[in-house]
Amino acid sequence: MADSYGQNCNKCGFCLSVCPTYQAQGTEDASPRARIQLIDFFSDHKIGSSEKLKDIISKCLMCGSCANICPAGINHPERYVRMREKMIRDHGDRPEIKSLVYLLAKESRIRMAAGAARMAQKIVPHVFAEKYRLGSIALKQFPVFNKVPFRTAARKAMARKPGKKSKGVPALKYGRVAYFTGCATNYLFEDTGFAVLDILRHMGVEVIIPETQTCCGIPMLFHGGRENVKSNINTNLACLDAQGIDAVIVDCPTCGAALKNDYPALAEEFGLDQDAANRVAEKVVDISTFIMAHARPQDFPQNHETIRVTYHQPCHLRNHMPSPGSAQGLLNALQGVEYIPALDMDSCCGGGGTFFYEYPEVSRGIANKKVTNAKATGANLWVTDCPVCRINLGGYLDDSADLTVVHPARLAAQFLPDLKGRKG
Ligand code: SF4
Ligand code: SF4
Repeated sequence: MADSYGQNCNKCGFCLSVCPTYQAQGTEDASPRARIQLIDFFSDHKIGSSEKLKDIISKCLMCGSCANICPAGINHPERYVRMREKMIRDHGDRPEIKSLVYLLAKESRIRMAAGAARMAQKIVPHVFAEKYRLGSIALKQFPVFNKVPFRTAARKAMARKPGKKSKGVPALKYGRVAYFTGCATNYLFEDTGFAVLDILRHMGVEVIIPETQTCCGIPMLFHGGRENVKSNINTNLACLDAQGIDAVIVDCPTCGAALKNDYPALAEEFGLDQDAANRVAEKVVDISTFIMAHARPQDFPQNHETIRVTYHQPCHLRNHMPSPGSAQGLLNALQGVEYIPALDMDSCCGGGGTFFYEYPEVSRGIANKKVTNAKATGANLWVTDCPVCRINLGGYLDDSADLTVVHPARLAAQFLPDLKGRKG
């Protein structure tokens, strides 16, 4: 994506047609072109720093749809990130968001916070969980934190079952991959992690789950924590740039985009090992793409009644990863999946990292439309690759919806001959 400054904006309005926050709010100040113009005014000292300006710049999902469509080549998210940093320096940030940036800077802190959150989930009264909302989502609708972090559980499982054999399907012997699990799979969605592991091992792939990996750093970057990100990048490059690794598998589009696109540029900016960043970036591949590239039809035989599935395409996959159609390709390839595209399959869900928490009303408006359209498909599974989209969309589905949000790997794993019926 080429970059250019806001002065190149020709006011064509293409970005308005794809911007979820503009569409939800309907005012020009919520549009990408207005944000970019305000940033230019600020840079030229035509306007000063203010809480209002901070709010306008922050009320953006960082989805990248505007940059993707902009004929002037403006890289909106990159400019928003820089501007957010300035605004946070001038006006501070909400204490909860500052705490998040602090926690994500060290794996030990994330682990401790996840443990505390799990304890709280266990003791919080049911009525409270139903009534209290975290941003736009009722506490009751939040996923339960993993009992132990996935990476710990996976190591134990792998030690118990080395080189799991598949019934009747000889292993492929593809090679060796490193699995970057991201925070969400490690602490919240172990079902995704085990599905990825089961699939890769079934395919005969040797999987390494580097112990020292940590948060990719993007949530910190989006909240003004540029300095904190340096250490996370260093840590991740050190464990992912290993000898004999053929691919770096990601299950989260944001982590994938970070490793693939942001790390090389940030490594240069921070004076880190740029060769390592480039080597890792070249190997990054999302799990659905990897399955489509290397699995054989017999790896996923039809052993189910037809499952009706719809899909939500995460913005980071559509706008930042090289193979945005990978999950849909997988849905179409799995025999026994009836894939019914939703009307707005490729529009943002309104989750946006912490956006659903910071701007609940805007977020709810965006998500409600998605839920209505997904329900209209009559599907029972709503597949999406991004854990934040999963939290956000799942947050609006109660038991009566008969619709569950899952990762594509979780669906694909149901078709493995050894593992049919595995529950998440
Ligand atoms: S990144 Fe997304 S939400 Fe933000 S201005 Fe661009 S299109 Fe709108
Ligand atoms: S798409 Fe690009 S050039 Fe067109 S109005 Fe938006 S920012 Fe300006």
